[in-house]
Amino acid sequence: MAEKRSNEVDGAFVEEGSVAGGSFVPVLRVPAVPGLFSEEGGATVLGNKCLACGTPYFPKAAECHNPRCGESRMADCAFGGKGVIWSYSVADFPPPPPHKFDKPFKSYVIGVIDMDNGLRMVGQMVDPLEHVRVGAQVELVVDTLYHEEGKAYTSWKFKLV
Ligand SMILES: [Zn+2]
Repeated sequence: MAEKRSNEVDGAFVEEGSVAGGSFVPVLRVPAVPGLFSEEGGATVLGNKCLACGTPYFPKAAECHNPRCGESRMADCAFGGKGVIWSYSVADFPPPPPHKFDKPFKSYVIGVIDMDNGLRMVGQMVDPLEHVRVGAQVELVVDTLYHEEGKAYTSWKFKLV
């Protein structure tokens, strides 16, 4: 049986630090898009990998796109861990619908990350702009994207380590 994490209550993940009136009030964490990432045993994104050449894909690829790969043997794979910021941009205006965000809108950094596992991924940074630098090491995390109807909707993000 998996070890119970501090932010896991009755098998569901809850937001940490949700305190109202001095008592802990768990806020249920729900994936904003189901099936793309997981918090079980640490933050991962759910992609796949070609077993013939080792090329990783996220999101999942139907077949291997490596031009030097003669065969395409795809297998599901969960990717997590660390990487390095290759580039980044700042979202300093509210995204258009159907994107959702907590109001008032707060600008955030979008990082392009070269992961140690071979993926180049795009994701929101947890850290503020003044701390973000090209070349800095980050790790994949699952964090709140927005709140709605008393729930915290989550996505994968990157956090400086
Ligand atoms: Zn391949």
